[in-house]
Amino acid sequence: MTGDGKRVLIAGGGPVGLLCAWLLGRQGIEVRLFDENDGPRADPRAATTHPATLELLADDGLAADMARVGLVAPIFQFWDRPSGALVAEFDHALLKDDTRFPYVVQCEQFKTARLILERLRGLANVEVLFGHKVERVEQEGSGVRIGVRNAGVTMQHSGGYLIGADGGRSTVRKECAVPFEGFTWPERFIVLTTPYDFEAERGYSYRSYFADVGAWCNCFKVSADGPPGLWRTVYPVDPAEKDDDVMSDAGVQARMQAFFPAPRPYEIVHRNLYVTHQRVAARFRRGRVLLAGDAAHVNNPIGGMGLNGGIQDAANLCDKLARVLRDGAPETPLDLYDLQRRTVAVEFVQEQSIANKKRLEAREPEARKRNFDELRAMAADPARARQFLLRTSMLASQRRAEAMRLEGAA
Ligand SMILES: Cc1cc2nc3c(=O)[nH]c(=O)nc-3n(C[C@H](O)[C@H](O)[C@H](O)COP(=O)(O)OP(=O)(O)OC[C@H]3O[C@@H](n4cnc5c(N)ncnc54)[C@H](O)[C@@H]3O)c2cc1C
Repeated sequence: MTGDGKRVLIAGGGPVGLLCAWLLGRQGIEVRLFDENDGPRADPRAATTHPATLELLADDGLAADMARVGLVAPIFQFWDRPSGALVAEFDHALLKDDTRFPYVVQCEQFKTARLILERLRGLANVEVLFGHKVERVEQEGSGVRIGVRNAGVTMQHSGGYLIGADGGRSTVRKECAVPFEGFTWPERFIVLTTPYDFEAERGYSYRSYFADVGAWCNCFKVSADGPPGLWRTVYPVDPAEKDDDVMSDAGVQARMQAFFPAPRPYEIVHRNLYVTHQRVAARFRRGRVLLAGDAAHVNNPIGGMGLNGGIQDAANLCDKLARVLRDGAPETPLDLYDLQRRTVAVEFVQEQSIANKKRLEAREPEARKRNFDELRAMAADPARARQFLLRTSMLASQRRAEAMRLEGAA
């Protein structure tokens, strides 16, 4: 391949697209990335970065930079909201012999995006084009051509491969007619962010999960613009509730007070309402187009696995794509990417994130008791707690993926 054929096009400059640009660009590969926004979005989404992901971001200091601008959180807790009882606490220190990172790092995804953008500025072979919307995708024998709209004008760009990292509504996935299989939750999820110090006032750890009858709350701390930081609380919203009521000051206060009664109204610095899906693309590779991140899979945020999965996709894919482009290796590894990462998405992330939600929202007293008994028993037994942490930290699924081979391959 010569000229444009050596270039990788990337649709989407969220954390996954930017990371792909960095992982390829730092190996000297020519990259052109397009994002329809004017710059990275600062909406309050992912923060929790698990040990399996930190391992992949260690060698160039990104994991250390994320810890520096974020928070290190070794412990997470499960609480019974109605009784106020702490059900179980898990400490990643139990993984000290399994990983260099026996903790999660709470780093807001826009900070991660900024850290990667800073690195990209030093690479002459990487172009990052904000304000550019990818609209059309065409594949031909030796490359991909895309139609990109900027300031009302559509231009064609060519490359050897295209990475679709353009989020859950991915245009690239739709252009390639790849089905997005799964379902959408009827309830929406609301994120309410407050400076109220849940640790000092109530003893909650930086990641605390609350079970309630038919409801739940995911409560976690982020460093925000510096100490004392902010707390994000995530709740389900009944489909019958109207958006205006849900987002009103009265609605927001009522939701916070119902979960965490307090003598004064909460200060709320952000409120966001999300539709949430559980979906996986039917394939992650269509010829010269590869899907990664939310374009390939979406899930509910309980357990914090969506972006982690996307970063793991990026590391897996870019390693293989670099070998194909730089060393002229056969394309078979790209099928292995599809096998490894799609299996993790379907068999681990989907299953685990749905189970996490069901565990928190169980209604029947026997089911609630069973769930709590199991969590307590696991937390009390270091061997079982370690196994549980290997799953929640995504180390088990990451190692399983690495060990997978294509049928018939050596
Ligand atoms: C409330 C909440 C909490 C979450 N918490 C966690 C967590 O703790 N841990 C975790 O791992 N995950 C979490 N997630 C999930 C996480 O936010 C996503 O998995 C993550 O944003 C995916 O990154 P991405 O780069 O694939 O996609 P996105 O962040 O969606 O980025 C896609 C980019 O593509 C651009 N784009 C879209 N269409 C086009 C186009 N046609 N042309 C050009 N550009 C385009 C967009 O502008 C955007 O910048 C959470 C999600 C929510 C909603």
